[in-house]
Amino acid sequence: MKTNLRSRSKNVISNVIGRFFELEISHGKGSYLYTVDNKQYLDFGAGIAVTSTGHCHPKIVKAIQDQAATLIHPCIATGHYEAPIALAEKLCSILAPHECSVFFNQSGSEAVETAIKLARYVSKKQNIVAFKGGFHGRTYGALSLTSSKNKYWEGYGKLLENIQFIPYPNTYRCPWGKQDPEDSLKKHLEELENTALLNSDVAAIIIEPVLGEGGYFPAPKQYLKKLEEICKKKKIFMIFDEIQSGIGRTGKWFDIQHNELDFDIITSAKGIGSGMPLAACIAKKEIMDKWPPGAHGGTYGANPVTCAAGLATLSVVEEILPNISPMSEKGFSLLRSKLEDHKYVGNIRGKGFMFGIEFVKDKQSKEPNKDIISLILKNCIAKGLIVMSCGVNDNVIRIMPPLTCSEEELLTGLNILTEVINDIH
Ligand code: PMP
Repeated sequence: MKTNLRSRSKNVISNVIGRFFELEISHGKGSYLYTVDNKQYLDFGAGIAVTSTGHCHPKIVKAIQDQAATLIHPCIATGHYEAPIALAEKLCSILAPHECSVFFNQSGSEAVETAIKLARYVSKKQNIVAFKGGFHGRTYGALSLTSSKNKYWEGYGKLLENIQFIPYPNTYRCPWGKQDPEDSLKKHLEELENTALLNSDVAAIIIEPVLGEGGYFPAPKQYLKKLEEICKKKKIFMIFDEIQSGIGRTGKWFDIQHNELDFDIITSAKGIGSGMPLAACIAKKEIMDKWPPGAHGGTYGANPVTCAAGLATLSVVEEILPNISPMSEKGFSLLRSKLEDHKYVGNIRGKGFMFGIEFVKDKQSKEPNKDIISLILKNCIAKGLIVMSCGVNDNVIRIMPPLTCSEEELLTGLNILTEVINDIH
């Protein structure tokens, strides 16, 4: 086998790819990735919250192999076949008693495109409200809703029109400077109530119920409930982008199920396919049924191999779903007990297997501490642990273990991380 992957990659793979690491990877198994020199890494990046069932889970591999040997691509426009139907049936049963209907895509960005096209088409309205700091993807439509980093849109010219942003309910970094989270929440609720924008002709609001790329911040329940109330009153479609938070990552199939929120449209990707390019735009059936044949489509959507992987993923996740919240609690209490007093740790938050640690230069001023992040990533890698960063200020470490990891693996990884952080004074 040829190695020198890094230098060959530099020659032929686009320079535009931003990377957390430059590992030369040979294979993966369970919670671990292995490099060509056979070093083992506990993978709490999980391919950016994708390999929910770990690497090469035998049930996923078998489902892919069996499907690939039977039918790879008939195209959904050609006819009906088992895998996407069975997967859609499962997704709909997860969201019962709501009656739903599913459109499959290959990536999260495309699922978001699907969602906003659906919302505009059916509502016959144009305006879409998104949240400052949100991330919805990099295609032009999804990018138009994304504001987590300027570099995502700088240099690309005109984006979609009729998109408006309102503050994400981040109560740690309150846009109005409130220090107390409760005061901040009150102010966010007040602002939401008084947002004149919501009186205009809004087709949809899109929100990540747990802010992902923007900093691993779960939106407070009260805020989401208020948003739901406003949307219902004003007949605005609620699009929940659960591309990062969905498929068990927060301890329920979808994060909105923690708060019994109603929805119109949900986007799902990442963890749904265990690494196969699979995404879904799930909508209430009454909405989806108003989209006439041919108004949207795609060559690869509902590919049998990716959908077979999706179906196998859901069956693996279903078995372990009850373990996520109790394990998460142990993880958070470990992080809190070992890190809360660290002078650079500003805030520890998240939900389920979305652990976020925000770093500051000073707990009082909350000035973002971005410099510490690369040091933490580097020192974790040196100890065989993969974690990643995120945040509008690039000052959050996010830990996204595979949902299948054992309690021992979870605590081992978090212990390595806390040691690395506590070595920095
Ligand atoms: N929405 C959210 C919440 C995401 O986290 C991401 C990916 N980070 C996307 C959309 C875009 O997904 P993809 O990269 O598969 O296009």
